[in-house]
Amino acid sequence: MSSSSPLLKELIDALRCLPGVGGKSAQRMAMQLLERDREGGRRLAAALEQAMQHIGNCSRCRNFSEHEVCTLCASDGRERGVLCVVETPSDLAAIEQATGYRGQYFVLLGRLSPLDGTGPEELGMPALAARLGEGEVQEMIIATNPTVEGEATAHYLGRLAAAAGIRATRLAHGVPLGGELEYVDRSTLAHAFGGRQAVE
Ligand SMILES: [Zn+2]
Repeated sequence: MSSSSPLLKELIDALRCLPGVGGKSAQRMAMQLLERDREGGRRLAAALEQAMQHIGNCSRCRNFSEHEVCTLCASDGRERGVLCVVETPSDLAAIEQATGYRGQYFVLLGRLSPLDGTGPEELGMPALAARLGEGEVQEMIIATNPTVEGEATAHYLGRLAAAAGIRATRLAHGVPLGGELEYVDRSTLAHAFGGRQAVE
């Protein structure tokens, strides 16, 4: 858009980093905040600044956390013997919301993708292997997405578990092939979680 304000143009450009937000939506958002909700805009700016500054990754599970160890890992109320491995923090949130799972997590922050240069190191596999070696984990639930790369990652995880002598299970039917856990409806995800199967 033609704008007399470079700051407005910068705001619109910046808003476009949000998923699903194109030029038109970004312009509408910027205008809305300036015209009708400056207080909301200030709050958004402050929250963004704080979040970007202080949210890192838990040293134990790699999920988002503003502490060295996240509240979930630090909780006394969670089972210690079950570890669910997911690709992203969004997948973890989906499982927390859809299932009654009360165990531990490990977040890969990605999936094996040799073409993109994402190997076991980038996914924290050495740390995961070390954790499996601690002797606390009895079962590893592999909850990677049923995509080609997710399956390759699951295969790698299965071998990691086998090497540590730990039972590995995989989410069952219901999660559509090529689907993403984050977008699967809750009852389907809960069902797939409950019906997980042993990995060969
Ligand atoms: Zn954690």
